[in-house]
Amino acid sequence: MNNSLQIARILGIPIKVHISFLFILPFFAWMFALQPEPYGFAGTGPDILRYALALATAILLFASVLVHELAHSYLSLRYGASIREISLYLIGGVSAIEGELTDPVKEATMAFAGPLSSLILGIFLLVVNYLFNPAASTAEGNVLFIMIFILGYINVILAMFNLIPAFPMDGGRILRALLASRMGFVEATEKAATVGKILAFVMGLIGLLISFWLVLIAIFIYMGASGEERQVKSRYSRY
Ligand SMILES: [Zn+2]
Repeated sequence: MNNSLQIARILGIPIKVHISFLFILPFFAWMFALQPEPYGFAGTGPDILRYALALATAILLFASVLVHELAHSYLSLRYGASIREISLYLIGGVSAIEGELTDPVKEATMAFAGPLSSLILGIFLLVVNYLFNPAASTAEGNVLFIMIFILGYINVILAMFNLIPAFPMDGGRILRALLASRMGFVEATEKAATVGKILAFVMGLIGLLISFWLVLIAIFIYMGASGEERQVKSRYSRY
């Protein structure tokens, strides 16, 4: 991937962040600093503490995305595929998996591993907050619990969101794997991509009414579905 920077190597896999992170990370930090409790640190003072907490939360959020990607990658490695790199983007990451995944059960398991890891992490953090936060509500408690709460609920949302069967999100990959057990891989990809595009279109329409973010995500999914469909078709037309 161009315009990206390698920040680490885990399980032998290069971990890269896209250059846009230079803008996105401060933007997320800024959002967390402005949101009222328990979804942000608006009531926390002084300013330097508020922005430090918000930045730490943003960094840990992207670390959560990395955990999600590593869960995919770990299973892929176990199944014998190799991973070229993990790239972290605006709303998630991409594990560049090499080698053919022709076993639908393995592909579905691998696709499910990411959301499952996000769900486990999210529930764990929410339980930690629930059990150990001495305040009656997160909003009144220690600021560290606000951070734990934010990371907990975003991880749960991340898990749920990724399970929407809109290819190329994880849910869509699971759908393709289910389809691929009954038809060819290319045909299954076409069908899953079509479902993904329809869902992206609906999501975009809803987004126009309620949230610009949803429109962006819808565009991302639509482009992703078209791109992967093209890729699969060109790869398999060679044979
Ligand atoms: Zn995933």
